[in-house]
Amino acid sequence: ARLFRAGDRVAVLPLQAMGGQPGRAGGRLDRLDYLVPPGLDLTPGAVVRVPLGPRQITGVVWGPGEGDLAATRLKPVIGRRDCPPVSGPLRRLVDAVASYTVSPPAGVLRMVLPIDEALDPPRPEAGLVLTGAAPQGRLTAQRRAVLEVISAGATAGDTPPSVADVARAADVSDGVVRGLVEAGVLAVVERPGGRGGDDAPAPDPERPGPVLGPDQTAAAAALVDAVAQGFSVEVLDGVTGSGKTEVYFEAIAAALRRGRQALVLVPEIALTTQWLERFRARFGAAPLSWHSELGHAHRRRAWRAVAEGRVPVVVGARSALFLPFADLGLIVVDEEHDAAFKQEEGVIYHARDMAVMRGALEAVPVVLASATPALETLANVERGRYHRRRLAARHGAAVMPAVEAIDMRGQRLPAVRFVSEPLKQAIVDAAARGEQAMLFINRRGYAPLTLCRACGHRMRCPSCDAWLVEHRLRAGGPRLVCHHCGHDEKLPDACPDCGAEDKFAPCGPGVERLAEEVAGLLPDLRVAVMTSDTIAGPEAAAELIGRMEAGAVDVLIGTQMMAKGYHFPKLTVVGVVDADLGLAGGDLRAAERTYQLLAQVAGRAGRAERPGRVLLQTYDPGHPVIRALIAGDRDGFLEAEADARRQAGAPPYGRWAAVIVSAPDAGDARVTADLFARALRRTLPPGARLLGPAPAPIGLLRGRHRLRLLAMADRAADLPLAMARARELVPVRGAIRVQIDVDPQSF
Ligand code: ADP
Ligand code: ZN
Repeated sequence: ARLFRAGDRVAVLPLQAMGGQPGRAGGRLDRLDYLVPPGLDLTPGAVVRVPLGPRQITGVVWGPGEGDLAATRLKPVIGRRDCPPVSGPLRRLVDAVASYTVSPPAGVLRMVLPIDEALDPPRPEAGLVLTGAAPQGRLTAQRRAVLEVISAGATAGDTPPSVADVARAADVSDGVVRGLVEAGVLAVVERPGGRGGDDAPAPDPERPGPVLGPDQTAAAAALVDAVAQGFSVEVLDGVTGSGKTEVYFEAIAAALRRGRQALVLVPEIALTTQWLERFRARFGAAPLSWHSELGHAHRRRAWRAVAEGRVPVVVGARSALFLPFADLGLIVVDEEHDAAFKQEEGVIYHARDMAVMRGALEAVPVVLASATPALETLANVERGRYHRRRLAARHGAAVMPAVEAIDMRGQRLPAVRFVSEPLKQAIVDAAARGEQAMLFINRRGYAPLTLCRACGHRMRCPSCDAWLVEHRLRAGGPRLVCHHCGHDEKLPDACPDCGAEDKFAPCGPGVERLAEEVAGLLPDLRVAVMTSDTIAGPEAAAELIGRMEAGAVDVLIGTQMMAKGYHFPKLTVVGVVDADLGLAGGDLRAAERTYQLLAQVAGRAGRAERPGRVLLQTYDPGHPVIRALIAGDRDGFLEAEADARRQAGAPPYGRWAAVIVSAPDAGDARVTADLFARALRRTLPPGARLLGPAPAPIGLLRGRHRLRLLAMADRAADLPLAMARARELVPVRGAIRVQIDVDPQSF
C-alpha cells in the first residue's frame, strides 16, 4: 500500500459528520486535507486524530490530499490511534454505500467504527485467583460456594473470572466475593482482554457434517466451488425444510479450510437459538453473535478480534455487514427476502444489496438463501447476474404440507370469535395425536383499535397518525401503545371525549386476544404466546423454543417473529387467522410480501416424519396469493407478479427512489417538499416520472408531518445522482428533515 511520509498531504474522512447539512453526498466537504507531521508514516486506512476547529476528532486516512489549499494553511495530523486500519475494500464499501444511499460518508463510516470504544485498546480486566491463604474464622456456606467456583475454574484452566461472574456462579452477592478479597483469601489480577473470540475454541471445518441428499450435494459443490473462485452471487433457492442451512454450512467449511472468515447475516439475531445449536453441532464451536445488546466491553473486544482475524465466523443482523473483517472469504444472507434487512433510519440501506456490493469489493462469493427469494433477486437470476441453486424437495422423508383455505364468509361464528370451527377441530385433532399446532396472526397486542361505545371516539396516538393498540400482557394492567413511536399510556377509566366510564370496546384481534380466545375454547391445551412483547430477548426465546421442543406446548400462538426458520418436528398444524391481513392497501409489494410471509409460516408445518396441514382463514379465497399457496405454485405466482411489475415499469424492472420531507410544522414540510420536487424535475434523467408531494403512508409520525415524493425511472437511470444533485439545490433549515430512500421497500 501507498505510504505517506512527513510533508505529504492526506485526505481524512472524519468519523463525525461535519456541521451544516447532513447528507451532502459526494462533495469535497466530506474529506479534509491534513499534513503528515515529521516522525509519522501513514498508510491509507489508518485511524488518526486530527484537529477540527478547536476540537480534536477521529478520522480515517482515505488517500492522498485532494484540496488546493496551500500547504502552509494545512494543519498536521495529531497522531495515529491504536486501532486496526480500515481496509481498502471496506473504504470502498463506505464510499459506495454513501453514494448509493445518498448519505454522508461519515455517517456510513460510523457504522464501520460504531463506537468510540472500538478505537481504544481493550483494557485488561480484573480477574480473581486464590491466594492460597487459609480463610480465617468460620467459613459460611456462601463463602464456601465462592471458593468452590474459583477452584473449579482454576483446575479447568479457565481465565480468572470477574467478581460478577463468580457472584453469579455461586449465587451470592458481589459483597460476599469482595469480602473474601478483603480477607486476603482471593486476589485480584489482570486478565487478558480476550473473550472476543481469541480464546474461544474455533469452529472446525473438518468435523463431519450430515450426509447430504443429491440436490444438497450438487448445491453444496457449487457453493464450495464459488468460495474458491472470487466474487459471485449464489441464490440458494430451496423450499422450506429442504436443508439450505446444511448446504451453506459446507460453503462456510470451505472458507474456513482456506483460513478465511465467514459472515452470516440473519434478519433477527434474537431468533437464532436453533440456528446456533445447529452451527455448534456441525462445527463443534459457536460463532460470534454480533448484536446491539452486546455490552460495550464485549463489542470492543469482538470488533478488534474480527479486525485481527481471530474470529472465524460471525453471525449477525444487518449491522454486522460493516464489521472490519481481516480476511473475509464468504458472505451468507439467510432469508434474504426478509424486510428486516432494510434499515429505515439514519443511513437507509438494504443489507442484502449492500452485502452483494461488499462481496464484489472483497472479491468473495455471496450466498442468498431463501424459500421465497425476492423478486429483485430472481430478476438478477433472470439477467444472468446471479446463479441459482435449487432444492426442490424437503430433506429426507418430509413432504410439503397440504394447504387449504377456510372461507370465512361461510362460517357462522359469534360476533367476536376469530378461530373457525374447522381450525379449532384441526388443533384438537393434532393435540389428540400428540402433535403441536401453531396459530399465526401478524398483529401484536390485544386489539388494534379501541373504541368508546358511548360516543364512538377512537383512541389515537397524540403524535402519530395511528390508532393506539391495546396491550394486556405488559406490567401494570391494560395499556394503549403506539406501534410507530412507542407512546404508551394506561387505558383510561373514562373516554377522553364524552367522559363515559368503562365503555371502551376492543375492536379486532391481536395476538394476545387470540391467545385468550384459544385458552377459552380449548382449556385442556397448553397455550404459549410468542410475540416481541412476551419474548424480549434471546433467553426468553430460547426458553420458549425449549418448551416447544420438549413437547410442553400444544398450541403456539404468535406474530411473525415465530415464522422465521424454526424447526419443530412435532408441529403439524399451522393456522393463519387472517390470511388477508397484508393484502389490503396499495403497496407495490403487498402480494409478494404476504406470499413470502405465509409460505414461511406454512413452512413450519410437517417438517419431519409426520405430514403437515396448513389452514388459511380468508374472506378472499380467490386471491392469487391464496390460490398460489393452496396450489403450491410459487413460480406461477412469481411469474404473474413479475409480469405485472414489468408492465408497470416498477421494481425490479424499473428503479424507484423516494424522498420524505418532514417537519413539526405542516407548512414548512410542504414548502420544502415543493422545492425538492422542483429541483428533482431539473435533475432527474429524461423519461423519469415524479409523483407527489403527497402525504406519506404515515402522514404524522412522532409529531412530524411527512410528505413523500416518488421518482420512477428505468433501470439504467442513476437516481442516487439525481437525488444528490437535487439536495444540493434545496436549502434545508431548522427542524426540517429530508430523508432519501433509494429502492424504498413500501409505498
Ligand atoms: P431450510 O433452511 O431449507 O428450511 P433446514 O436447513 O432447516 O431447512 O433443514 C430442515 C431439517 O432437516 C433440519 O432439522 C436439518 O437439520 C435437517 N437436515 C437437512 N439436511 C440434512 C441432511 N443432509 N441430513 C440430515 N438432516 C438434515
Ligand atoms: Zn405514535
